[in-house]
Amino acid sequence: MYSKKNMEERIGIGYDIHRLVEGRKLFIGGEEIPYHKGLLGHSDADVLLHAICDALLGACGQGDIGEHFPDTDPKYRNIASTKLLEDTCEIIKSKGFVIVNIDSVIIAEEPKLLPFRNKIIKKISQILKINEEKISLKAKTNEGLDATGQGQAIACYAVVLIEKRT
Ligand code: MG
Repeated sequence: MYSKKNMEERIGIGYDIHRLVEGRKLFIGGEEIPYHKGLLGHSDADVLLHAICDALLGACGQGDIGEHFPDTDPKYRNIASTKLLEDTCEIIKSKGFVIVNIDSVIIAEEPKLLPFRNKIIKKISQILKINEEKISLKAKTNEGLDATGQGQAIACYAVVLIEKRT
């Protein structure tokens, strides 16, 4: 029988935002999304995976994505963020943690992400080797307000819960 006794639970939050520009492919959650713009960044600028990485690193007290994968390091130039998430997963595993669940909110005026939600969740579940039911993804617009609302950027928030036996 599962008991909370002898389990350490840790929560983490992650946030990221990237500019939308012409001439870049759009990657969200490791999936290429058809759109005439993409996110600008040193890596593939996958805003969802970056927010999840930061939430996971935060939860286990391991700093943030910029410390582990600095954008000044040419090694990470145009790197697939799926690789960054894989490496982050190894870090939390090495600390003895497993993922309980992930919740996330993407803020994008365009494109509509709902049609890709299941594919994205499946991809993340494969990378993290966890059940799809442990991953939640919601997509919202910013009601036309601010940079995200005017289609100049896509932002994302992620919250994770991790646990380990003590
Ligand atoms: Mg980022």
